[in-house]
Amino acid sequence: MSELKQLAILGGPKAVPQPTQSMFKWPIITEEDEAAAVQVLRDGAMSGTDITKKFEREFAEWLGTKYALGFNNGTSSLLGAFYGCGIGVGDEVICPSVTYWASALPAYSLGASVVFAEIDPVTLCLDPNDIEHRITERTKAIVVVHYLGYPADMDAIMAVAKKHNLKVIEDVSHAQGGYYKGRRVGTIGDVGAMSLMAGKSFAIGEGGIFVTNDLEIYERAIAFGHYERNNAEIQTPYLQPNIGLPLGGYKFRMHQVSSAVGRVQLKYYDERIGEIDKAMNYFWDQLEGVPGLRAHRPEKGSNSTMGGWYATHGHYVPKELGGLSVTRFCQAVSAEGVPIGPGCNLPLHLHPLQHTADVYGHGKPTIIANASRDLRQPKGSLPVSETIATRVYSLPWFKHFRPEEIDGYVEAFRKVALQYEALLASDEGNPATIGGWNFFRQRA
Ligand SMILES: *Cc1c(COP(=O)(O)O)cnc(C)c1O
Repeated sequence: MSELKQLAILGGPKAVPQPTQSMFKWPIITEEDEAAAVQVLRDGAMSGTDITKKFEREFAEWLGTKYALGFNNGTSSLLGAFYGCGIGVGDEVICPSVTYWASALPAYSLGASVVFAEIDPVTLCLDPNDIEHRITERTKAIVVVHYLGYPADMDAIMAVAKKHNLKVIEDVSHAQGGYYKGRRVGTIGDVGAMSLMAGKSFAIGEGGIFVTNDLEIYERAIAFGHYERNNAEIQTPYLQPNIGLPLGGYKFRMHQVSSAVGRVQLKYYDERIGEIDKAMNYFWDQLEGVPGLRAHRPEKGSNSTMGGWYATHGHYVPKELGGLSVTRFCQAVSAEGVPIGPGCNLPLHLHPLQHTADVYGHGKPTIIANASRDLRQPKGSLPVSETIATRVYSLPWFKHFRPEEIDGYVEAFRKVALQYEALLASDEGNPATIGGWNFFRQRA
């Protein structure tokens, strides 16, 4: 590594004077995607299910599940998965507090409640040791989020679920194609639901999908929100009398331009995220041993991967950098030509929806509308979730393995971390709130 130059924020040269746009452009769209989309338009097939059904079959084949069901977005795929798992009035769902809201909030429209659990400070995913004491006779399911691409500790979580006979819903929106100990994430629990919206690593426009091996979950979700597929093909006996209408009154059908693009994206997806994986691992390998900075990625040799490294973040250890705030750290790295920011999703258990909002006119807060006890979780109750924002920051999301180009980014982080002392005097600390409810969307 070169000698350290003065920090850009203090008047020195930028480590990355001219970022190349092509390094970050996503998804990769070729003439093949364009032709597939145009064909749908020419065929007048925007609404329909023939292309979507092909996409579903290919998607299920890719992940090795019996079924895949396409949705108009990831939020609907989660609602479909919740209903599929039998979640209903008065039930409780356990979900990590730090995640995108759609991992949990669809439960309320089913009359269920959400009980939030801690995240593990290293994986940033649901802490398997913080689940069991939250289980009651009303608990129906655990939602697991492979947060920021990291595969959650599924062995431990599945063991708890099995012991208490709970369903496990994997939210794979951040980790499509990732592996947990050699198994694809999304295929380990009862159902793996995910967003395929344009900003995610598997990006097809607005869209979502779930995969499952369970016919009942699959057909319940169809019956709930796919009206024309709630037809004579339904095999589950108790669903048969109600074919013809969407039982939930929802319409979840995927737009066929999305499914057509999805079929093309799928062909190249593993190869493309393989390159992302190589690039991101190269970046972190170069930073190995730099004080204050730690990769958020599974151990090498664990047979686990980060999938597409969606919204990837790094760990920050302020005590190794003289207590420098993550906010000041990010300002200095950004000044080097690498726009990054501190924090991640705000902890959901502190939002007014989890305390006071009466969404459906129950005359009491929605979270306890059908609950048998007060489920509200006050400030201070989930300390890791409430403080993690001061110890993480976003990273550049490389789409190509170009070592020389990535070296400039490595230099930006290294330069700042190794010269933290020059920043201490100008450090005003972290603001009261870091991150947001719609964190990633705001950043995009
Ligand atoms: C994006 C996202 C969703 C929702 O997906 P949409 O396609 O935006 O509806 C759900 N869960 C997580 C973790 C997400 O990041």
